[in-house]
Amino acid sequence: MLGHRAWPAFTRSLRFRLTVSYVVLFTLALVAIGISFRGLLSGASRRQIELTLEEEFGEVKGFLRMERNRPVWFYDRQDPDEAAIVARIRNGAFLLTDSQGQVLESSSLYRRMGLEPQVEIVSVMQANRPRIRVRQDPDGDEYVIREGIFVDGPNRYFVSLGRSLSDSNQILAQFTRGYFLLMPLGMVLIAWAGWWFAGRALAPVIEMANAARAISSSNLALRLAPPGSNDELQNLVATFNSMMERLEQSFHQVRQFSTDVSHELRTPLTVIRGHLEVALMTAKTAEQYQESILTALQDVERISQIVRALLQLSQAESGQLALQHVPVDLTLLTEALREQFDLAAEEYQVSIETRLPPKVIVRGDRVQLERLLTNLVMNAIKYSYAGGRVTLSARPVDTHWEFVVEDRGQGIPAVDLPHIFDRFYRVRGREWDPEKGLGLGLSFVAWIVKAHEGQIRVESTVGQGSRFIVTLPRGGEGLESSNEL
Ligand code: ADP
Repeated sequence: MLGHRAWPAFTRSLRFRLTVSYVVLFTLALVAIGISFRGLLSGASRRQIELTLEEEFGEVKGFLRMERNRPVWFYDRQDPDEAAIVARIRNGAFLLTDSQGQVLESSSLYRRMGLEPQVEIVSVMQANRPRIRVRQDPDGDEYVIREGIFVDGPNRYFVSLGRSLSDSNQILAQFTRGYFLLMPLGMVLIAWAGWWFAGRALAPVIEMANAARAISSSNLALRLAPPGSNDELQNLVATFNSMMERLEQSFHQVRQFSTDVSHELRTPLTVIRGHLEVALMTAKTAEQYQESILTALQDVERISQIVRALLQLSQAESGQLALQHVPVDLTLLTEALREQFDLAAEEYQVSIETRLPPKVIVRGDRVQLERLLTNLVMNAIKYSYAGGRVTLSARPVDTHWEFVVEDRGQGIPAVDLPHIFDRFYRVRGREWDPEKGLGLGLSFVAWIVKAHEGQIRVESTVGQGSRFIVTLPRGGEGLESSNEL
């Protein structure tokens, strides 16, 4: 059945271990129940015997008289019931002595068991209290013995009555034997039921494992059917499916990314190649050669730019870029960058208006926040119409600052809005020089905002302009180290 190697794997299987735990637990419970039930049973029968002895003792008092220190049994000899009672007492285990332990009457059963030593009798008489104990006859049969005091007139006598325990012991033994003989059968049943239940409970897990095994990079769209049981397994399936969702997305992104990169690099490479070929075939003078090389160099520079930006972005996104967390005043930061913004604004014939509170302090990395501002403001300038205006403003909202960069430029079509934060994404069909933007700026912006536990959203209308709204957690206003900016 199971191979030599399969055995350890089988014993390690969850199903096997669950079954074994069931069996062990049930067996322990059965043993405990058996033992305590047996205890109850033996206690009950022992009490029953003691009660009977108590009754018999009463009967002795009723029927026994002492005449000159000799026992005389008084009863109606015509009454078969009374005769039977007295016979039962006298033929059972019965001993009667005087207070010194001199035997006055003893049954043969009692003699077989052995008469009580005198000291014992004297001690019971002195204690003046009945005593109950268990004795054995030479065959090992057990008796419950009740020793007590019988008073007749001024004299006191010792009476001991006994009843065999063997009936009740036999019942106990039978019970024990029957119970523990049936137990293995119970264990087999439990093992079978446990195996079946464990199998049923684990079936969805095995199904999941099989389904997961079938997933490869070519069918990442595969999802597991939820069992509909609304339990931990359903939760597991849902978690698994959502993990697959994210995996698929990442896979898709990576694929898209490599396609994009090759695309982006191919264009400038083709251009360089064109330039160089033309130069080879047509250039005559040193100036012509120089010009071709210069143009080629510009394209090489663009390629380097792309590669550098990509490298940084992937470093950032894979968490290799350590961010500082210091208070940074965005108002001061904007002022520091103002010159750079003005230069660009002049080139695009745009004006810049800042409506910032005196202090807009957030906690974060100065270099990255600078990059965030630069990217947003430069985009706003780049995509404005000549004569347009770019406005920077900020307002506190709860525990955050809302920083807004607004322009009255071309705006972004609704279809493009969801994608503008993707790498290399650029809105198509625009008249400006497509070589200028890499389509990576907003990817950086998105990452920086995320790394600062902030949010970004865009409102835009084509032909009217765009608003980029960045929400960042407010930094410790009390910390003045931002002054260094
Ligand atoms: P790029 O380097 O091309 O500007 P970005 O990632 O910064 O790349 O922006 C992606 C695209 O989003 C841009 O190509 C542009 O079409 C659009 N965009 C970004 N900011 C604005 C804006 N303020 N107004 C209009 N379009 C914008």
